[in-house]
Amino acid sequence: MNIIFDAQLCTGDGTCAVACPLQIIKLTKTDSFKFQIIEPLSCIGCGICIQSCEQEALNFDAFTEDVIDLKKIVK
Ligand code: SF4
Repeated sequence: MNIIFDAQLCTGDGTCAVACPLQIIKLTKTDSFKFQIIEPLSCIGCGICIQSCEQEALNFDAFTEDVIDLKKIVK
């Protein structure tokens, strides 16, 4: 499972980086924002970063309907 990132939607507010319980997200900006998990093997796949993003710029690459429904409930 990977996390996919849509740079077009990202406003760079850093909510995902703050929300990550492991503090392994790094957001950088060059021409556009870049999302990076700096310790990918440490990621527990909790999805907190995805749920924290109001712009919906993050998503699991293998998104199941259960996860989609959970995301709607959380909002
Ligand atoms: S899925 Fe969880 S552990 Fe992995 S980067 Fe997102 S918030 Fe951090």
